[in-house]
Amino acid sequence: MGYARVRSIGLVGLEGHPVVVEAHVDAGLPALVLSGLPDASLNEARDRVRAAIVNSGETWPQRRITVNLLPAELPKSGSGFDLAIAIVLLAGTGELPPRGLGGAAAIGELGLDGQIRPVRGVLPMVLAAARAGIRRIIVPATNAAEASLVPGVAVRSAEALRQVLEFIRGAATLPDAPDGDEIVEETAPDLADVVGQPRGRFALELAAAGRHHLALFGPPGAGKTMLAQRLPGILPPLDDAAALEVTAVHSIAGTLPPAPRLIRRPPFQAPHHTASAPALVGGGSGLARPGSLSLAHHGVLFLDEAAEFAPSVLNALRQPLEDGWVVLARSRGSTRFPARIQLVLAANPCPCGAGNDVNCTCSAIERRRYRTRLSGPLMDRIDLRVRLEPVGAAALLGEPHEQETSAAVLRRVLAARQTAADRWAELGYAVNAQVPGPVLRRPPFRLPRSATAELARRLDDGKLSARGYDRVLRCAWTIVDLDGRSGPTRDDVAEALELRTGDL
Ligand SMILES: [Zn+2]
Repeated sequence: MGYARVRSIGLVGLEGHPVVVEAHVDAGLPALVLSGLPDASLNEARDRVRAAIVNSGETWPQRRITVNLLPAELPKSGSGFDLAIAIVLLAGTGELPPRGLGGAAAIGELGLDGQIRPVRGVLPMVLAAARAGIRRIIVPATNAAEASLVPGVAVRSAEALRQVLEFIRGAATLPDAPDGDEIVEETAPDLADVVGQPRGRFALELAAAGRHHLALFGPPGAGKTMLAQRLPGILPPLDDAAALEVTAVHSIAGTLPPAPRLIRRPPFQAPHHTASAPALVGGGSGLARPGSLSLAHHGVLFLDEAAEFAPSVLNALRQPLEDGWVVLARSRGSTRFPARIQLVLAANPCPCGAGNDVNCTCSAIERRRYRTRLSGPLMDRIDLRVRLEPVGAAALLGEPHEQETSAAVLRRVLAARQTAADRWAELGYAVNAQVPGPVLRRPPFRLPRSATAELARRLDDGKLSARGYDRVLRCAWTIVDLDGRSGPTRDDVAEALELRTGDL
Protein backbone atom coordinates (compact mmCIF):
# COMPACT_ATOMS: atom_id res chain seq x y z
CA MET A 1 0.00 0.00 0.00
CA GLY A 2 2.83 2.39 0.72
CA TYR A 3 6.46 2.56 1.69
CA ALA A 4 8.87 5.42 2.35
CA ARG A 5 12.25 5.94 3.95
CA VAL A 6 14.08 8.95 5.39
CA ARG A 7 17.59 9.19 6.73
CA SER A 8 18.54 10.38 10.18
CA ILE A 9 21.53 10.09 12.50
CA GLY A 10 21.88 8.34 15.86
CA LEU A 11 24.60 8.82 18.46
CA VAL A 12 26.55 6.27 20.45
CA GLY A 13 29.00 8.06 22.70
CA LEU A 14 30.74 10.60 20.50
CA GLU A 15 30.13 8.60 17.33
CA GLY A 16 27.26 9.42 15.01
CA HIS A 17 25.76 6.61 12.92
CA PRO A 18 23.43 6.87 9.92
CA VAL A 19 19.95 5.54 10.69
CA VAL A 20 17.25 4.73 8.15
CA VAL A 21 13.69 5.39 9.27
CA GLU A 22 11.26 3.42 7.12
CA ALA A 23 7.46 3.31 7.05
CA HIS A 24 5.23 0.59 5.70
CA VAL A 25 1.52 1.23 5.37
CA ASP A 26 -1.09 -1.48 4.94
CA ALA A 27 -4.77 -2.06 5.26
CA GLY A 28 -5.13 -3.18 8.85
CA LEU A 29 -6.97 -1.40 11.65
CA PRO A 30 -5.62 2.12 12.14
CA ALA A 31 -2.53 1.95 14.33
CA LEU A 32 1.02 3.19 14.59
CA VAL A 33 3.54 0.47 15.33
CA LEU A 34 7.00 1.76 16.10
CA SER A 35 10.02 -0.49 16.39
CA GLY A 36 13.76 -0.16 16.57
CA LEU A 37 13.93 2.18 19.58
CA PRO A 38 14.39 1.27 23.24
CA ASP A 39 11.04 0.55 24.88
CA ALA A 40 11.06 3.62 27.07
CA SER A 41 11.48 5.97 24.12
CA LEU A 42 8.89 4.28 21.88
CA ASN A 43 5.72 5.49 23.54
CA GLU A 44 7.08 8.99 24.04
CA ALA A 45 8.15 9.30 20.42
CA ARG A 46 4.79 8.00 19.19
CA ASP A 47 2.86 10.46 21.32
CA ARG A 48 5.01 13.43 20.31
CA VAL A 49 4.87 12.62 16.60
CA ARG A 50 1.12 12.07 16.60
CA ALA A 51 0.40 15.33 18.43
CA ALA A 52 2.88 17.29 16.32
CA ILE A 53 1.34 16.06 13.04
CA VAL A 54 -2.21 16.87 14.12
CA ASN A 55 -1.20 20.26 15.53
CA SER A 56 0.56 21.13 12.28
CA GLY A 57 -2.80 21.05 10.50
CA GLU A 58 -2.42 17.58 9.00
CA THR A 59 -5.00 14.83 9.13
CA TRP A 60 -3.85 11.80 11.06
CA PRO A 61 -3.83 8.94 8.52
CA GLN A 62 -6.40 6.27 9.41
CA ARG A 63 -4.20 3.38 8.35
CA ARG A 64 -2.06 0.75 9.89
CA ILE A 65 1.47 2.18 9.81
CA THR A 66 4.65 0.36 10.81
CA VAL A 67 7.69 2.55 11.39
CA ASN A 68 11.03 0.90 11.86
CA LEU A 69 14.49 2.30 12.65
CA LEU A 70 17.49 0.55 11.09
CA PRO A 71 19.99 -0.87 11.78
CA ALA A 72 18.17 -2.75 14.52
CA GLU A 73 21.33 -3.60 16.46
CA LEU A 74 22.43 0.03 16.83
CA PRO A 75 21.57 1.25 20.33
CA LYS A 76 19.45 4.33 19.70
CA SER A 77 18.71 6.94 22.29
CA GLY A 78 17.54 10.50 22.42
CA SER A 79 14.62 12.20 20.75
CA GLY A 80 16.31 13.34 17.53
CA PHE A 81 14.45 10.85 15.32
CA ASP A 82 11.01 12.51 15.76
CA LEU A 83 11.25 14.71 12.67
CA ALA A 84 12.32 11.83 10.42
CA ILE A 85 9.53 9.64 11.81
CA ALA A 86 6.88 12.31 11.10
CA ILE A 87 8.12 12.81 7.55
CA VAL A 88 8.35 9.13 6.69
CA LEU A 89 4.93 8.44 8.12
CA LEU A 90 3.27 11.11 5.96
CA ALA A 91 5.28 10.10 2.90
CA GLY A 92 4.32 6.44 3.35
CA THR A 93 0.60 7.26 3.52
CA GLY A 94 0.74 9.47 0.44
CA GLU A 95 0.31 12.76 2.30
CA LEU A 96 3.72 13.89 1.03
CA PRO A 97 5.34 13.35 -2.37
CA PRO A 98 6.86 9.85 -2.27
CA ARG A 99 10.32 11.27 -2.91
CA GLY A 100 10.15 12.67 0.59
CA LEU A 101 13.43 14.33 1.42
CA GLY A 102 15.38 12.67 -1.35
CA GLY A 103 18.80 11.86 0.04
CA ALA A 104 18.68 14.46 2.79
CA ALA A 105 18.69 13.53 6.47
CA ALA A 106 16.46 15.01 9.16
CA ILE A 107 17.26 15.58 12.83
CA GLY A 108 15.00 17.11 15.45
CA GLU A 109 12.72 16.52 18.40
CA LEU A 110 9.07 17.46 17.96
CA GLY A 111 7.07 19.37 20.52
CA LEU A 112 3.42 18.42 20.94
CA ASP A 113 2.58 21.74 19.25
CA GLY A 114 4.55 20.85 16.13
CA GLN A 115 7.57 23.01 16.93
CA ILE A 116 10.99 21.50 16.23
CA ARG A 117 13.09 21.48 19.36
CA PRO A 118 16.88 21.44 19.55
CA VAL A 119 18.75 18.25 20.31
CA ARG A 120 22.11 17.56 21.92
CA GLY A 121 24.96 16.31 19.78
CA VAL A 122 24.09 17.92 16.45
CA LEU A 123 27.75 18.53 15.60
CA PRO A 124 28.86 14.87 15.83
CA MET A 125 25.64 13.88 14.02
CA VAL A 126 26.39 16.15 11.07
CA LEU A 127 30.01 14.98 11.07
CA ALA A 128 28.75 11.40 10.77
CA ALA A 129 26.38 12.45 7.98
CA ALA A 130 29.29 13.96 6.06
CA ARG A 131 31.32 10.78 6.50
CA ALA A 132 28.37 8.68 5.28
CA GLY A 133 28.12 10.77 2.10
CA ILE A 134 24.95 12.62 3.12
CA ARG A 135 25.21 16.06 1.55
CA ARG A 136 22.02 17.74 2.80
CA ILE A 137 20.52 17.83 6.24
CA ILE A 138 17.61 19.50 8.00
CA VAL A 139 18.19 20.48 11.63
CA PRO A 140 16.31 22.44 14.31
CA ALA A 141 16.73 26.20 13.80
CA THR A 142 18.43 26.51 17.19
CA ASN A 143 21.09 24.00 16.12
CA ALA A 144 21.73 25.52 12.65
CA ALA A 145 24.87 27.47 13.51
CA GLU A 146 26.38 24.44 15.22
CA ALA A 147 25.54 22.13 12.30
CA SER A 148 27.14 24.54 9.84
CA LEU A 149 30.54 24.11 11.52
CA VAL A 150 30.91 20.92 9.50
CA PRO A 151 32.26 21.57 6.01
CA GLY A 152 30.74 19.82 3.01
CA VAL A 153 27.17 19.45 4.21
CA ALA A 154 24.38 21.84 3.13
CA VAL A 155 22.42 22.66 6.27
CA ARG A 156 18.83 23.85 6.23
CA SER A 157 16.92 24.63 9.36
CA ALA A 158 13.31 24.81 10.45
CA GLU A 159 11.43 25.94 13.53
CA ALA A 160 8.29 23.89 12.96
CA LEU A 161 7.19 20.65 11.32
CA ARG A 162 4.76 22.62 9.17
CA GLN A 163 7.67 24.46 7.49
CA VAL A 164 9.39 21.18 6.61
CA LEU A 165 6.18 19.71 5.16
CA GLU A 166 5.66 22.80 2.98
CA PHE A 167 9.27 22.56 1.87
CA ILE A 168 8.84 18.92 0.79
CA ARG A 169 5.62 19.84 -1.04
CA GLY A 170 7.56 22.52 -2.88
CA ALA A 171 5.42 25.28 -1.40
CA ALA A 172 8.16 27.01 0.62
CA THR A 173 11.90 27.15 1.08
CA LEU A 174 13.89 26.57 4.21
CA PRO A 175 16.60 29.01 5.26
CA ASP A 176 20.20 27.99 4.71
CA ALA A 177 22.29 27.98 7.83
CA PRO A 178 24.85 30.77 7.94
CA ASP A 179 28.38 29.72 7.12
CA GLY A 180 30.32 29.00 10.26
CA ASP A 181 32.76 31.84 10.80
CA GLU A 182 35.21 30.66 13.35
CA ILE A 183 37.74 33.42 13.65
CA VAL A 184 37.39 34.70 17.14
CA GLU A 185 39.65 36.36 19.64
CA GLU A 186 38.89 34.90 23.01
CA THR A 187 40.05 36.62 26.12
CA ALA A 188 41.51 34.32 28.70
CA PRO A 189 43.25 34.84 32.02
CA ASP A 190 46.85 35.93 31.39
CA LEU A 191 50.06 35.09 33.23
CA ALA A 192 50.85 38.80 33.29
CA ASP A 193 48.35 39.04 36.19
CA VAL A 194 50.29 36.62 38.39
CA VAL A 195 52.54 38.41 40.86
CA GLY A 196 55.68 36.56 41.93
CA GLN A 197 55.62 32.75 42.08
CA PRO A 198 58.59 32.15 39.76
CA ARG A 199 58.64 28.48 40.82
CA GLY A 200 54.96 28.03 40.08
CA ARG A 201 55.24 29.79 36.74
CA PHE A 202 58.18 27.62 35.73
CA ALA A 203 56.32 24.44 36.68
CA LEU A 204 53.31 25.59 34.69
CA GLU A 205 55.48 26.25 31.64
CA LEU A 206 57.08 22.80 31.96
CA ALA A 207 53.65 21.22 32.30
CA ALA A 208 52.52 22.98 29.12
CA ALA A 209 55.64 22.09 27.13
CA GLY A 210 55.78 18.39 28.06
CA ARG A 211 52.07 17.89 28.81
CA HIS A 212 52.95 16.70 32.29
CA HIS A 213 50.38 16.36 35.04
CA LEU A 214 50.93 18.93 37.78
CA ALA A 215 50.22 19.24 41.50
CA LEU A 216 50.32 22.60 43.25
CA PHE A 217 50.57 22.63 47.03
CA GLY A 218 50.39 25.66 49.24
CA PRO A 219 48.32 27.63 51.70
CA PRO A 220 45.17 29.48 50.66
CA GLY A 221 46.06 32.67 48.85
CA ALA A 222 49.28 31.33 47.33
CA GLY A 223 47.74 31.59 43.88
CA LYS A 224 47.26 27.90 43.04
CA THR A 225 43.95 28.45 41.25
CA MET A 226 45.22 31.55 39.47
CA LEU A 227 48.12 29.59 38.01
CA ALA A 228 46.01 26.57 37.04
CA GLN A 229 43.49 28.74 35.20
CA ARG A 230 46.32 30.12 33.08
CA LEU A 231 47.52 26.75 31.77
CA PRO A 232 45.14 26.60 28.76
CA GLY A 233 46.43 30.00 27.65
CA ILE A 234 49.97 28.66 27.23
CA LEU A 235 48.95 25.41 25.53
CA PRO A 236 49.06 25.12 21.72
CA PRO A 237 45.66 25.91 20.16
CA LEU A 238 43.68 22.86 19.01
CA ASP A 239 44.14 21.75 15.41
CA ASP A 240 41.11 21.10 13.17
CA ALA A 241 40.60 17.48 14.18
CA ALA A 242 40.97 18.17 17.90
CA ALA A 243 38.75 21.27 17.71
CA LEU A 244 35.95 19.28 16.06
CA GLU A 245 36.28 16.52 18.65
CA VAL A 246 36.21 18.89 21.60
CA THR A 247 33.30 20.89 20.18
CA ALA A 248 31.44 17.61 19.54
CA VAL A 249 31.82 16.56 23.18
CA HIS A 250 30.45 19.91 24.33
CA SER A 251 27.63 19.56 21.81
CA ILE A 252 26.54 16.26 23.36
CA ALA A 253 26.79 17.79 26.81
CA GLY A 254 24.53 20.62 25.66
CA THR A 255 27.00 23.25 26.87
CA LEU A 256 27.62 25.09 23.58
CA PRO A 257 26.40 28.68 23.29
CA PRO A 258 23.56 29.43 20.81
CA ALA A 259 25.89 30.45 17.95
CA PRO A 260 28.89 28.27 18.69
CA ARG A 261 32.32 28.41 17.10
CA LEU A 262 34.73 25.55 16.94
CA ILE A 263 36.48 25.35 20.30
CA ARG A 264 40.11 26.19 19.53
CA ARG A 265 41.38 26.83 23.03
CA PRO A 266 42.10 23.75 25.14
CA PRO A 267 39.16 23.52 27.54
CA PHE A 268 39.45 24.04 31.30
CA GLN A 269 37.18 22.12 33.63
CA ALA A 270 37.18 22.64 37.38
CA PRO A 271 34.63 20.35 39.06
CA HIS A 272 33.88 21.15 42.71
CA HIS A 273 35.21 18.75 45.33
CA THR A 274 31.65 17.69 46.16
CA ALA A 275 31.25 16.38 42.58
CA SER A 276 30.11 12.77 42.31
CA ALA A 277 31.87 10.11 40.26
CA PRO A 278 29.09 10.21 37.61
CA ALA A 279 29.50 13.99 37.29
CA LEU A 280 33.16 13.39 36.61
CA VAL A 281 32.92 10.44 34.22
CA GLY A 282 29.49 11.09 32.69
CA GLY A 283 26.32 9.03 32.33
CA GLY A 284 22.60 9.60 32.75
CA SER A 285 19.60 7.90 31.19
CA GLY A 286 18.87 8.07 27.48
CA LEU A 287 21.56 9.81 25.49
CA ALA A 288 24.59 9.67 27.81
CA ARG A 289 26.11 12.97 28.87
CA PRO A 290 29.88 13.37 29.03
CA GLY A 291 31.26 14.33 32.45
CA SER A 292 33.98 16.81 33.42
CA LEU A 293 36.68 14.34 32.37
CA SER A 294 35.45 14.36 28.77
CA LEU A 295 34.56 18.05 28.76
CA ALA A 296 38.25 18.58 29.55
CA HIS A 297 39.29 16.39 26.57
CA HIS A 298 42.39 17.90 24.91
CA GLY A 299 42.53 20.38 27.76
CA VAL A 300 42.93 20.72 31.51
CA LEU A 301 41.06 19.05 34.37
CA PHE A 302 41.67 21.08 37.52
CA LEU A 303 40.86 19.56 40.88
CA ASP A 304 41.07 22.31 43.47
CA GLU A 305 41.20 21.11 47.09
CA ALA A 306 42.01 17.71 45.65
CA ALA A 307 42.25 16.04 49.06
CA GLU A 308 38.58 16.85 49.67
CA PHE A 309 37.35 14.80 46.71
CA ALA A 310 35.82 11.43 47.58
CA PRO A 311 38.34 8.61 47.14
CA SER A 312 35.94 6.91 44.71
CA VAL A 313 36.03 10.04 42.55
CA LEU A 314 39.82 10.20 42.54
CA ASN A 315 39.93 6.49 41.71
CA ALA A 316 37.64 7.04 38.74
CA LEU A 317 40.40 9.18 37.22
CA ARG A 318 42.98 6.43 37.03
CA GLN A 319 41.79 4.46 34.00
CA PRO A 320 41.07 7.52 31.82
CA LEU A 321 44.51 8.92 32.72
CA GLU A 322 46.04 5.69 31.42
CA ASP A 323 44.16 5.24 28.16
CA GLY A 324 42.46 8.55 27.37
CA TRP A 325 38.91 7.18 27.35
CA VAL A 326 35.98 7.06 29.74
CA VAL A 327 33.93 3.89 29.37
CA LEU A 328 30.32 4.02 30.59
CA ALA A 329 28.27 0.90 31.24
CA ARG A 330 24.88 1.27 29.54
CA SER A 331 21.76 -0.87 29.51
CA ARG A 332 22.76 -2.05 26.03
CA GLY A 333 26.50 -2.58 26.01
CA SER A 334 28.82 0.26 26.86
CA THR A 335 29.58 3.63 25.39
CA ARG A 336 32.75 5.64 25.61
CA PHE A 337 33.80 9.26 25.47
CA PRO A 338 37.30 10.57 24.82
CA ALA A 339 39.11 11.98 27.86
CA ARG A 340 42.70 12.77 27.02
CA ILE A 341 43.35 15.28 29.73
CA GLN A 342 46.11 17.07 31.49
CA LEU A 343 45.51 16.91 35.22
CA VAL A 344 46.24 19.76 37.60
CA LEU A 345 45.69 19.15 41.31
CA ALA A 346 45.80 21.78 44.00
CA ALA A 347 45.78 21.19 47.73
CA ASN A 348 46.31 23.02 50.97
CA PRO A 349 49.17 21.70 53.08
CA CYS A 350 46.72 20.45 55.74
CA PRO A 351 42.97 20.52 56.42
CA CYS A 352 43.07 23.93 58.11
CA GLY A 353 45.35 25.35 55.45
CA ALA A 354 48.05 26.70 57.74
CA GLY A 355 50.53 23.92 57.03
CA ASN A 356 53.64 23.84 59.19
CA ASP A 357 52.79 27.25 60.48
CA VAL A 358 52.38 27.67 64.24
CA ASN A 359 48.76 28.58 63.51
CA CYS A 360 47.89 25.07 62.33
CA THR A 361 45.02 23.68 64.38
CA CYS A 362 45.00 20.19 62.87
CA SER A 363 45.74 17.11 64.93
CA ALA A 364 48.51 14.78 63.88
CA ILE A 365 45.92 12.18 62.85
CA GLU A 366 44.02 14.69 60.73
CA ARG A 367 47.21 15.68 58.96
CA ARG A 368 48.21 12.10 58.31
CA ARG A 369 44.78 11.15 56.97
CA TYR A 370 44.87 14.20 54.69
CA ARG A 371 48.25 13.25 53.23
CA THR A 372 47.19 9.65 52.72
CA ARG A 373 44.35 10.80 50.50
CA LEU A 374 46.82 12.43 48.17
CA SER A 375 49.16 9.52 47.85
CA GLY A 376 49.22 6.26 46.03
CA PRO A 377 48.62 5.46 42.40
CA LEU A 378 47.05 8.77 41.38
CA MET A 379 49.88 10.89 42.77
CA ASP A 380 52.40 8.57 41.19
CA ARG A 381 51.12 9.75 37.80
CA ILE A 382 51.90 13.38 38.58
CA ASP A 383 55.27 14.43 37.14
CA LEU A 384 55.46 17.88 38.69
CA ARG A 385 54.74 18.69 42.32
CA VAL A 386 55.38 22.18 43.46
CA ARG A 387 55.10 23.82 46.84
CA LEU A 388 53.99 27.44 46.54
CA GLU A 389 54.63 29.94 49.29
CA PRO A 390 52.27 32.83 49.97
CA VAL A 391 53.15 35.91 47.99
CA GLY A 392 54.89 38.24 50.40
CA ALA A 393 53.80 41.80 50.95
CA ALA A 394 57.07 42.96 49.37
CA ALA A 395 56.21 41.32 46.05
CA LEU A 396 52.62 42.47 46.18
CA LEU A 397 53.21 46.08 47.17
CA GLY A 398 56.75 46.70 45.92
CA GLU A 399 57.81 48.30 42.68
CA PRO A 400 55.53 46.91 40.00
CA HIS A 401 57.69 45.12 37.51
CA GLU A 402 56.42 43.62 34.32
CA GLN A 403 55.38 39.99 34.50
CA GLU A 404 55.78 37.95 31.37
CA THR A 405 52.58 37.52 29.34
CA SER A 406 51.01 34.21 28.39
CA ALA A 407 51.74 34.98 24.73
CA ALA A 408 55.48 35.18 25.43
CA VAL A 409 55.46 31.92 27.38
CA LEU A 410 53.37 30.24 24.67
CA ARG A 411 56.06 31.03 22.10
CA ARG A 412 58.62 29.09 24.16
CA VAL A 413 56.16 26.26 24.74
CA LEU A 414 55.49 25.94 21.00
CA ALA A 415 59.21 25.84 20.22
CA ALA A 416 59.82 23.21 22.91
CA ARG A 417 56.91 21.11 21.68
CA GLN A 418 58.32 21.24 18.16
CA THR A 419 61.73 20.08 19.36
CA ALA A 420 60.17 17.17 21.24
CA ALA A 421 57.85 16.28 18.36
CA ASP A 422 60.82 16.17 15.95
CA ARG A 423 62.83 14.00 18.34
CA TRP A 424 60.06 11.43 18.90
CA ALA A 425 58.47 11.61 15.43
CA GLU A 426 59.98 8.33 14.25
CA LEU A 427 58.65 6.58 17.35
CA GLY A 428 55.18 8.09 17.00
CA TYR A 429 55.05 10.33 20.09
CA ALA A 430 54.18 14.00 20.14
CA VAL A 431 55.02 15.11 23.68
CA ASN A 432 57.50 14.03 26.34
CA ALA A 433 54.78 12.82 28.72
CA GLN A 434 53.80 10.13 26.19
CA VAL A 435 57.21 8.54 25.84
CA PRO A 436 57.44 5.11 27.54
CA GLY A 437 60.14 4.59 30.17
CA PRO A 438 62.11 1.94 28.26
CA VAL A 439 62.64 4.38 25.38
CA LEU A 440 64.15 6.88 27.82
CA ARG A 441 66.34 4.29 29.52
CA ARG A 442 67.86 2.72 26.40
CA PRO A 443 70.13 4.07 23.70
CA PRO A 444 70.06 6.39 21.90
CA PHE A 445 68.17 8.36 24.56
CA ARG A 446 69.81 6.85 27.64
CA LEU A 447 71.50 9.57 29.67
CA PRO A 448 75.13 9.26 30.78
CA ARG A 449 75.58 7.56 34.15
CA SER A 450 76.91 10.77 35.63
CA ALA A 451 73.53 12.41 34.96
CA THR A 452 71.43 9.65 36.50
CA ALA A 453 73.62 8.56 39.46
CA GLU A 454 71.44 10.28 42.04
CA LEU A 455 68.27 8.81 40.54
CA ALA A 456 69.75 5.31 40.63
CA ARG A 457 70.70 5.78 44.28
CA ARG A 458 67.14 6.81 45.22
CA LEU A 459 65.71 3.91 43.28
CA ASP A 460 67.97 1.52 45.21
CA ASP A 461 67.00 3.15 48.50
CA GLY A 462 63.32 2.76 47.67
CA LYS A 463 62.82 6.52 47.80
CA LEU A 464 61.76 6.63 44.16
CA SER A 465 59.45 4.22 42.35
CA ALA A 466 60.35 2.81 38.94
CA ARG A 467 57.53 4.86 37.48
CA GLY A 468 58.85 7.90 39.31
CA TYR A 469 62.29 7.34 37.81
CA ASP A 470 60.88 7.51 34.30
CA ARG A 471 58.82 10.55 35.11
CA VAL A 472 61.88 12.44 36.27
CA LEU A 473 63.60 11.61 32.98
CA ARG A 474 60.63 12.87 30.94
CA CYS A 475 60.57 16.09 32.88
CA ALA A 476 64.34 16.56 32.46
CA TRP A 477 63.86 16.34 28.69
CA THR A 478 61.20 19.04 28.86
CA ILE A 479 63.57 21.28 30.82
CA VAL A 480 66.20 21.08 28.07
CA ASP A 481 63.59 21.43 25.31
CA LEU A 482 62.46 24.73 26.80
CA ASP A 483 66.05 25.80 27.16
CA GLY A 484 66.93 24.86 23.59
CA ARG A 485 69.68 22.40 24.57
CA SER A 486 70.31 18.95 23.14
CA GLY A 487 70.13 16.62 26.15
CA PRO A 488 69.66 16.59 29.94
CA THR A 489 72.69 17.02 32.19
CA ARG A 490 73.08 16.14 35.86
CA ASP A 491 71.72 19.57 36.80
CA ASP A 492 68.61 19.09 34.65
CA VAL A 493 67.93 15.72 36.24
CA ALA A 494 68.45 17.23 39.69
CA GLU A 495 66.00 20.00 38.89
CA ALA A 496 63.43 17.53 37.54
CA LEU A 497 63.86 15.41 40.65
CA GLU A 498 63.27 18.37 42.88
CA LEU A 499 60.12 19.24 40.93
CA ARG A 500 58.85 15.71 41.39
CA THR A 501 59.53 15.33 45.07
CA GLY A 502 57.97 18.59 46.20
CA ASP A 503 55.50 17.63 48.88
CA LEU A 504 52.63 18.83 51.01
ZN1 LIG B 1 46.39 22.55 59.73
